[in-house]
This record gives sequence, C-alpha cells and structure tokens, in this order.
Amino acid sequence: MAENSTEHKKSLHFIEQLIEEDLKIYPHIVTRFPPEPNGYLHIGHAKSICLNFGMAEQYGGYCNLRFDDTNPIRETIEYVEAIKKDVEWLGFEWENELYASEYFEQLYEWAVLLITKGKAYVCNMSVDEIAESRGTPTIPGKESPYRNRSVEENIDLFARMRQGEFADGECMLRAKIDMTSPNMHMRDPIMYRIRHAHHHRTGDKWCIYPMYDFAHGESDFIEGISHSFCTLEFEVHRPLYEWFLEQIAEPGQRVPKQREFARLNLNYTVMSKRKLLQLVEEKHVQSWDDPRMPTISGLRRRGYTPESIRNFSAKVGVSKRENVIDVALLEHCVREDLNAASPRIMAVLNPLKVVLTNYPENESELVYGISNPEDEQSEKRAIPFSRELYIEHTDFMEDAPKKFFRLAPGREVRLKYGYIIKCEDVIKDDAGNIIELHCTYDPKSKSGSGTEESKRKVKGTIHWVSIADAIETEVRLYDRLFSVENPLNAEDGKDFLEYINPDSLQITRALVEPSIKGVEVGYKCQFERTGYFCVDPDSTQENLVFNRTVSLRDAWAKQSQKK
Ligand code: ATP
Ligand code: MG
Repeated sequence: MAENSTEHKKSLHFIEQLIEEDLKIYPHIVTRFPPEPNGYLHIGHAKSICLNFGMAEQYGGYCNLRFDDTNPIRETIEYVEAIKKDVEWLGFEWENELYASEYFEQLYEWAVLLITKGKAYVCNMSVDEIAESRGTPTIPGKESPYRNRSVEENIDLFARMRQGEFADGECMLRAKIDMTSPNMHMRDPIMYRIRHAHHHRTGDKWCIYPMYDFAHGESDFIEGISHSFCTLEFEVHRPLYEWFLEQIAEPGQRVPKQREFARLNLNYTVMSKRKLLQLVEEKHVQSWDDPRMPTISGLRRRGYTPESIRNFSAKVGVSKRENVIDVALLEHCVREDLNAASPRIMAVLNPLKVVLTNYPENESELVYGISNPEDEQSEKRAIPFSRELYIEHTDFMEDAPKKFFRLAPGREVRLKYGYIIKCEDVIKDDAGNIIELHCTYDPKSKSGSGTEESKRKVKGTIHWVSIADAIETEVRLYDRLFSVENPLNAEDGKDFLEYINPDSLQITRALVEPSIKGVEVGYKCQFERTGYFCVDPDSTQENLVFNRTVSLRDAWAKQSQKK
C-alpha cells in the first residue's frame, strides 16, 4: 500500500501533489481563470485554462471565469465576449462569471483599512521618481518623503483621489512595507493609481484603479479560491500576494495559495497580447482570428478542434521549468485528431488535364471511395469518373527518375478508387509547356471489381477529379507567420515584424470532387494526399473557401521516431 501511494505520487505533477496534500485540510478546491479582457485568448491561455478547469474537475471542485478588468484603458466588451466564446469552445464550463471591477468598493474599503493600520500611504512622487527611489536588488531603496503622513491625512487624500480632485499621475496609494527588502516588489509597491478613464463596466464611477498585485489576491480571497495558479514570473510577487492577504484576513481565516507554473512558449510565433494587437492593428494579419494567429479563435478558424488543443496542453504538461515547445507538436495533435475523424475527399490544387483516349466520349460512371479508412462504420462515397480528368501537376514528370512512382511517359499509375492508366503522349503548347496528357486506361483494372486484373499492382496511386463534375473552390494555404523560431529575440536582433514570413498565406484554387456540395462553414475533411482542410466563414454560395489546417506530413512524428 505504501509503495502504491509512492508510485501514485510520482506520477502526479507538482500541482496535483500540492492539491492532494491540501485536500486533507480543504473541503474542496476552487480555482479561477483570470484573463484581462484586453485582447483575444491565445494558445498560452489554453494551457492555463486546461490547468485551472482541469484541476477543479479532477478534484471535484469548480472553476470561476474572472475578468481581471482593473485597467480600463485597453479593455472592451468585445474582448469579454470573445474570451467567453473561446473558453466554452474549448469545452469548459465555469461555475461563476465574475469581474474584478465588481469588487472595487470592497477593495477600496480594504485599502482604507490598510491606511488605518498605518500600512499604506498616499505618495506624491511621480512614477519615474518612485522607480528611481526603489534602488536595485543590491542597493536598498530610499523612503518616500510622503511615507510618514498621518493616518488622517492619508484617509483624506485617498478619499479625494477617489472623488477626482487630482489629475492622472499626481499621486498614488502605496503599501508601506520595506524599502530595503531584498525583494523589489516589497519596496512600497503601488496599490492604486489615478486614471480618469471610462471603464467598460463601471463607466465613470471610478477614477482610481487598483494595481494587479493588490486586486488579484483580494479578488481570489473574495471568491474563496483555494489555489491561485499563475505563471512563473509571478513567483517573486508571491510574498506581496501573501502580505496583502495577511493584512485583511481575520486571524486563522483560510486564504488562497498562489502557486506558479511555467508559461507555454511556442516557436515561430509571438504570444504577447500587445504584439498580437500590433499585428492586427497594423494589418499584418486580417484580424484576431486570422488562421495564422496563435489565438484560440485563429486556431478554430484554421480548423483546429478543441480536443486537439486539450491534448496538446496535456502533452506539454505542467512544470516549473520554462522551455519552448515546438509548434510541430501542436500540428501533430491536430493531425492525430483529424485523421481519426475526417472524411476523405479528392481535390486537385495544381491541375494537369488527362484525356483517356480509349474511354468512350460522353459517358461517365461512378467509382466508390472509402469515406474514412480510420472509421470502420464510415460509408462509401460515389465519385464520378469520366474521359477527361485532372491530376496534380506534381504527380507527372516528363523525365522521371526510376524511383518516381507516379505518372511519366510510358509508365502506369493507379487512379485512386478507379483504374490503372498509362501515359501515351505529352501535349505541349508552342512555348513548350505541358498542357495535357493523353493516356489509356485498362478497363479491367477497376478497383474493387473483384477481377484478377483489378488486383493488379502498380507502384503508385494518385488522386484525381473528373473535370465535368469537379467543383472549383478557393484554397488558402497557410504557413508559419514568422520565418524564425524566436521572432522577439532573433540572433540578428531586428524588430519582430521584420521576420514575418512573406509566404505565410498563399491563395489558390482547387478542383474538388462533387461530394463536398452543400458543406457548411467549419466543415473539416482531408484532401487525400494533400492535407486537412476546413471551410472558412468567408465562403459564399458561389465560392467555397477552404483553409488548410495542416499538411499531411508529420515532422513531429518523424522526429520522435528518431529519438
Ligand atoms: P499576455 O502576456 O499575452 O498579455 P497575460 O498574462 O497578460 O498575457 P492575462 O489575460 O493576464 O494575460 O492571462 C490570464 C491567465 O492566463 C493568467 O493566469 C496568465 O498567467 C495565463 N497565461 C497567459 N499567458 C500564458 C502562457 N503563455 N502560458 C500559460 N499561461 C498563460
Ligand atoms: Mg496579465
């Protein structure tokens, strides 16, 4: 038994271990996901969402969605709505939808309580002066000349700050802790600053706004959060988080625990909301949900499934060490999911016309394709076959090397689900460009017809569409948005915008088998031998638009096989 429990413990990540210990004293665990509504959520947030909601679910507690809306300047309702949509889409249900701005009155009262206890004061230094007087980790800070104001004066000044008597930046409320603390965050941190700005929920009611460090832990406390998970850069803030709670909690009262985990970093992209906003505002991408963005909405539009993102998050795991995850892992996760669930369709992106000279004119027939080889229950689809077809230009080579197992003059190839054809003649225009192939087909070789000839093996199988039946669509081929692994810190140190991949979007057309008729926005399929695609919201009745989610080639699987 003892051995078992050691084994069990070893298999847990550090947060699970912490919670299992705490469950001995806590009735249940309560977590929160606390986005600031100043942008759309990205894949890094997905990790935090999976952790916060995941832990609550795993240990029979619940998770709140709390908007950390304490900075009115960049926050909007559009962002609030987008965040809710993304969390829901990922498959999580919050217990309560909450807003830190609803706690402004309580936070104000607690700030007054701190003043009363002699633990906070109004400081008239400017932000720059405060920064300068703070010292460095090795040089102690200098005390503010306003530090020893009386409680009465501080209460009066703080009330007048609230009433709007002062301009932005004229004064602030600071905690009175220790200007010589080795932890810079403890050197009289700012608690409130003046911002004469309209807030998307509280309107013009407030002109003073609490800083993150003061608002966050107190909001956790109000909501009865047991564990407040945040990213590693907040580890040095933890003493301050605990200090504020100590000031306001009754003796013996349980307070939330802040614990830190490594943030998710992904190569070939940027994840800071400020940088993402810049990409949108300066029109380097279409929108927040541009399929090249690392946002949840971008990934959704690109064709990612919620399962693939949750699996990715699970594979990345929870740790205390920062590292950079290869975007190939994310792509691997979506391939894995789409491979299992996607219907197969044939589409030609780069067409070359093939005429089957021995196939009767004005006739056609149906051949039958498997909808999804990964799904035994999937039905067969009927695909029209006729004398004039398109194949992929890259599936033909005039001077082909021996190992080229596709079509070449005098060689045979199987048309998937159809017949074996042989290239007899290459037709060119005056400039010498190949415009058409004349081929013959072997009428007895039809796939699945049961005859000996139908089982005849040739080296290659290629996809095709019947010209008369194909549906023409737009196709958007996406590649990585940046051409270097770490655009924010590349070796030659240019601005990240200079590393935008000029070929991150290629728009082309495709000829698709008619089974796709009537599909709707969001529909996902595999274009056989090409990649996974989904229907973009830009589609109209006349012009279906497909986004390439990911190609079929799996760099990640190859890499991990090698290891
Ligand atoms: P950004 O730096 O991109 O603007 P943020 O941390 O300011 O992000 P918030 O809205 O404050 O964004 O984040 C909400 C929650 O998501 C926080 O708990 C934060 O720690 C977490 N989070 C943000 N980015 C990541 C990431 N890359 N990996 C894991 N968690 C993250
Ligand atoms: Mg933040």
